[in-house]
Amino acid sequence: MESALTARDRVGVQDFVLLENYTSEAAFIENLRKRFKENLIYTYIGSVLVSVNPYKELEIYSKQHMERYRGVSFYEVSPHIYAIADNSYRSLRTERKDQCILISGESGSGKTEASKKILQYYAVTCPASDQVETVKDRLLQSNPVLEAFGNAKTLRNDNSSRFGKYMDVQFDYKGAPVGGHILNYLLEKSRVVHQNHGERNFHIFYQLLEGGEEDLLRRLGLDKNAQNYQYLVKGQCARVSSINDKNDWKIVRRALSIINFNEDDVEELLSVVASVLHLGNVQFASDDHGHAQVTTENQIKYLARLLAVDAAALRESLIHKKIIAKGEELNSPLNLEQAAYARDALAKAIYGRTFSWLVSKINKSLAYKGSDVLSIGNASVIGLLDIYGFEVFQHNSFEQFCINYCNEKLQQLFIELTLKSEQEEYESEGIAWESVQYFNNKIICDLVEEKFKGIISILDEECLRPGEATDMTFLEKLEDTVKNHPHFVTHKLGDQKLRKSLGRDEFRLLHYAGEVNYSVVGFLDKNNDLLFRNLKEVMCDSGNPIAHQCFDRAELTDKKRPETVATQFKNSLSKLMEILMSKEPSYVRCIKPNDAKQAARFDEVLIRHQVKYLGLIENVRVRRAGFAYRRKYEIFLQRYKSLCPETWPNWDGRAQDGVAVLVKSLGYKPEEYKMGRTKIFIRFPKTLFATEDALEER
Ligand code: ADP
Ligand code: MG
Repeated sequence: MESALTARDRVGVQDFVLLENYTSEAAFIENLRKRFKENLIYTYIGSVLVSVNPYKELEIYSKQHMERYRGVSFYEVSPHIYAIADNSYRSLRTERKDQCILISGESGSGKTEASKKILQYYAVTCPASDQVETVKDRLLQSNPVLEAFGNAKTLRNDNSSRFGKYMDVQFDYKGAPVGGHILNYLLEKSRVVHQNHGERNFHIFYQLLEGGEEDLLRRLGLDKNAQNYQYLVKGQCARVSSINDKNDWKIVRRALSIINFNEDDVEELLSVVASVLHLGNVQFASDDHGHAQVTTENQIKYLARLLAVDAAALRESLIHKKIIAKGEELNSPLNLEQAAYARDALAKAIYGRTFSWLVSKINKSLAYKGSDVLSIGNASVIGLLDIYGFEVFQHNSFEQFCINYCNEKLQQLFIELTLKSEQEEYESEGIAWESVQYFNNKIICDLVEEKFKGIISILDEECLRPGEATDMTFLEKLEDTVKNHPHFVTHKLGDQKLRKSLGRDEFRLLHYAGEVNYSVVGFLDKNNDLLFRNLKEVMCDSGNPIAHQCFDRAELTDKKRPETVATQFKNSLSKLMEILMSKEPSYVRCIKPNDAKQAARFDEVLIRHQVKYLGLIENVRVRRAGFAYRRKYEIFLQRYKSLCPETWPNWDGRAQDGVAVLVKSLGYKPEEYKMGRTKIFIRFPKTLFATEDALEER
């Protein structure tokens, strides 16, 4: 038989805090490797869960597994995503404090799978009733629909989420899930009109072509062959071995009906999807004056039918730009390039807005519908954040800039909520603390988002000078304004060594996670996200109810300049931070073991990089220095008072004194805990287990 010691040698420790050499990155990775080899993909850092994508189905997600984690104290069972789910749920129930679970990691590391597993766990283990069953179903079924419209095959992940998602699950006073709400962030719309080699457009297009019934396709004017659609051929990989579009189509169709789409809704939605494909096939030729003319009348005909718009108006607005000068309307013709631009802009706008419409439609179906108004007022919430991880490609553009900015914000939140607050709490509780050095990335967040002199402000300023400003004037202005910021480098600015290898159209940000070069080419355009006015007008008149709702007339009369993409994103992130700040966070840190999407391959270089930028070693240091557990005296007393005759059934004095009496009677040793000003701090998990066990045995 294997002794405990050799078992540990083989499978490593299940909490990095228990590592002998806990500040060593090598020891950390070695532990990860040992466990990964044994298919132990989960490991803790205190209460943070580190997860390595196994790239194969493991037998650890059955109903029996769920039962094993249900209501069981965190440290008593082996690390698991269900333990995180259960722990949040129990904190919610016992402390009545809203929770959130933040899932981070790079593309393909397993974030979305993790969030689905958490939802499944709640669907199976939480109390139920008839109405709750519907909500559970809808919560689960919103996933395939959102994935069909928001996910795509990329080089990194065959099912990559191309939008950020935050989902609230609402629970009633009995602990049953009764509703939900989704917030979506920055869909990668550019994918609608262009895909890199080896990547695909959003799944829904292929699903529709592969799975759609003949009748349906005929009505939509589509044929089954993806090769016939300009928007689907750029990546040259319509078929992917890991994806079964035909089958996924069935799943999506079923899911749509569960989340309350009737036949008309579905037809209207698919009409919009089909219209994007037809738009992609609209082509132009140049007339004698160099003006674009539409050469694909058939496409216009289908578009007019599917979107229920006037064919002539649509045709004209694709090749003209309406300008209002001195109160007079001028229709100026477009050249070939401009017309193609206008067409693609329309396709992106239609798809992007339809996606947002879809989210709000799903939200309506998830909204709490019980008669008990009070109950929803008191409902408590567990939020799940599944959002793009840090991205560094060969070529990085505006999208990576936004995504990495988002990750800086999340890191900031992490620092604020754990590292910093941990120290501050010890201080305010009057408990001695050995300080931990950590890098505060606020300086980078400020560099991006500060009013007047942050990168986004300067970008917006340049976007206000149409005709004059270019991507390059934006870069120059950046250099003028940001100057010698320690985290900003261009080929002219910054440390000599860092400047090397930077192109003239690039700037480099020294992110907390590492350096990234951004090419400014396209920044102004993407930030403006312009859709010509006459195209908007056509869409506002659309007789397709979905398209009609997506394009509001008010937009045409509104004199105020629409918010730029970066500013919108900044504002929505700031709201998200507020939401998350108001909740008690748990963390899941996902790691991708290799770039080949293969099982049992542990690429050390790749993993070390992720360990670094997820800040995991720092995390271990802080946890190890501190206490495993802390609770307000009132809560602690309330939970455990039955374990001591003097505190049961009620303690009359101060809660703190009650806790002192209670832990003495439980036999806590002085080195095992500390009494702060408002909370008890327990150093080792095992002390708490024993107390929990005692409670159980009663
Ligand atoms: P992310 O959302 O971080 O980009 P996903 O959650 O989509 O990554 O995971 C990518 C792929 O990895 C999944 O499609 C699945 O094949 C595999 N995968 C991720 N997590 C697991 C897991 N726990 N068990 C088995 N396979 C997984
Ligand atoms: Mg994902």
